[in-house]
Amino acid sequence: MDRRQFIALPGAALAASFVAEAADVPWHQRIRRAGQINFTEHDPVALNVEEWADYWAGLKTDAVLLSVTGIVAYYPTQVPFHRKARFLGDRDLFGECCAAAKKRGFRVIARMSPDLKWEDVSRSHPEWFARDAHGNFVRHNEEPQLYRTCMFTTYFTEHIPAIMREVNTRYDIDGIFTNAWPPLDRLPICSCDQCRRLNPGQTPAFWEKFNERVAYLWKLYDSIAKEKRPDNLFFANLGGSISATPDLKQLGDLGYWFNCDNQGRGGADTPIWGCTMQGRVAGAVMKGKTVTNVTGAWSTGTVRWRNASKSPEEATMWMDETVASGMVPWYHFVGAENGLGEDRRWQETGRRFFTWLARHDRHYVNRRSLASLGVVMGQSTHLFHRPPSGTTVQQHMEGLYYVLLEGRFFFDFVHEDDLGPDNLKKYAALVLPNIALLSDAQCRQLRAYVDGGGSLLATFETSLYDERNQPRADFGLADVFGIHKAGEVIGTNGNAYYARIERPHEILSGFSDTNWIPGAEHRLPVKPVENPVLTVVPGYTAYPPELSYPRQTHTIEPAVVIREKGASRLVWFPGDVERTLWRSGHTDLSRLIRNAVGWLLRGRSPVTIEGDGVIEPFGWETDAGFAVHVLNYTNPAMHRGWIRSFYPIGEQKVRMTLPPERKVTRVELLRAGNDVPFRQTGRDVEFTIPRVADYEAAAVYSE
Ligand SMILES: [Zn+2]
Repeated sequence: MDRRQFIALPGAALAASFVAEAADVPWHQRIRRAGQINFTEHDPVALNVEEWADYWAGLKTDAVLLSVTGIVAYYPTQVPFHRKARFLGDRDLFGECCAAAKKRGFRVIARMSPDLKWEDVSRSHPEWFARDAHGNFVRHNEEPQLYRTCMFTTYFTEHIPAIMREVNTRYDIDGIFTNAWPPLDRLPICSCDQCRRLNPGQTPAFWEKFNERVAYLWKLYDSIAKEKRPDNLFFANLGGSISATPDLKQLGDLGYWFNCDNQGRGGADTPIWGCTMQGRVAGAVMKGKTVTNVTGAWSTGTVRWRNASKSPEEATMWMDETVASGMVPWYHFVGAENGLGEDRRWQETGRRFFTWLARHDRHYVNRRSLASLGVVMGQSTHLFHRPPSGTTVQQHMEGLYYVLLEGRFFFDFVHEDDLGPDNLKKYAALVLPNIALLSDAQCRQLRAYVDGGGSLLATFETSLYDERNQPRADFGLADVFGIHKAGEVIGTNGNAYYARIERPHEILSGFSDTNWIPGAEHRLPVKPVENPVLTVVPGYTAYPPELSYPRQTHTIEPAVVIREKGASRLVWFPGDVERTLWRSGHTDLSRLIRNAVGWLLRGRSPVTIEGDGVIEPFGWETDAGFAVHVLNYTNPAMHRGWIRSFYPIGEQKVRMTLPPERKVTRVELLRAGNDVPFRQTGRDVEFTIPRVADYEAAAVYSE
């Protein structure tokens, strides 16, 4: 969508702190900070409205989320079956907060929750509710009085719109937002009258119906938002990373604002890059339109305290990741007991981050990513592919992500439905981490990309299924990689297979003093090729050690297929190498994949950063010139939350190749708060970041 399609109303109040962009860019494309206290039913007697509004004003917040809800009403509603919050009394909490917010120049987003309704309503409107296979209403797992509504019913086309219109008419709001719709974690399972007609099931055919309904409701709600003002909007709580249920490409085309409900992690085995990965997913489909990421200042994780603060270091790193990956931070706490919370420790964490960010907004208005490497994200593979037992599709992406961080690669995500030449022309290479489902058309697009000189790396079952999840007899990309399927998936019982080194190659750089390296946990055998670089030594018994020796020491089955075709370089791994890296932690597998990606790119990158530590880098062209971001993950809490302290890393040497005719005038470190010297030789620029605690952003001013 062209941003210029939006009409800015003359005299519309500009967001509190950010006025740098042209007047034809609508307000929702200019917001830099969002804030939310998620109301509880008790807040009408607990929240101090002035203190609430002053807090967000102190943070230079542009937009606040205010609960209307749908489960309970925070205002004196006239809509039948919209039950007033238990402690609301005669108050209009929504109205009071809306007025206090407007007085301070905030945009106000009205938050609704259409997912649940009370048991008593089911007697008057049984048709609004989801049903299980036996025809019973579906009770909420925590609150027994609440039941799940169904998105295919008139609850979503009549009741929710009635509430939206009531709020639109009465209050000076700028947008409408739904929490918990569309559903994110799985496709809805419902046996109500409507759903039975749709023949639901967790299939690509049902996904189509589901996406049609999402688009219909999204457009309906957006049209209601625009009944108030043409630059008002509807948007929804999204997130769910690559395995989100709604078609992300469709949402990217429909929406102007993608909110990632991706609030943080707990003490489970979750890597710290959960926030940046989500940023890459949303960025891939929004293409520069507003993406926000919610940082839960409350205690996120499987064991939860909704009304207690998390560690300031963890919350800060999540916001560091938000802004480095091109998103806008949205700071969030639940409930306001005792005025603005029994626990107020979260407030200083947000204040420190937001007021710092507000001084540097122009360096966070990104025009384009500087990455020349694309990673294809297979949303339909994540939703429908059944990987070998005991494995998940997500493990492939986590493993690849880890490799790319270890290699300090600059990369973007690319949605499977966005493989056209206009989108791919900026990438020298693409990686397909087990993108099992690819349509014939998508395979043709990838073939055209290779014919045009683009390079590819793919693994395991990539292209073995069509978009309907139907298996193909041979890979859809067989001709591109010069491979043919030679059997079914082989797993591991004991020792996993090895990859025997047959001849030197750049992808084996760093492997000496060994004849073999690890293969992977699973592989899909491919037919022999000429002059292979690695061949499979099949797995064998691991215990007892007496039997732990290879029965067959040499085969002609390739463990990698490498090809050069014109300007294009191609690497195929028959094994689930990136997933096996994730499961095993094996450094050889990381090195092998890093080497392979480096070979595809011919060692070239528009930006490189050399130094010690595990970092995640981002490079952007910005309003002010360019920005290079360094997130320091060198931390014992990298794979398991929360971060307790930061462990600073030393010198990071940055080299950039700028577009022609661009001259650098200044390099400023936004966290350190000082300039650093730089050297420009032709198009090449070099400078050093002396130290990174949690995060540094180097603003490269350029004319
Ligand atoms: Zn239903």
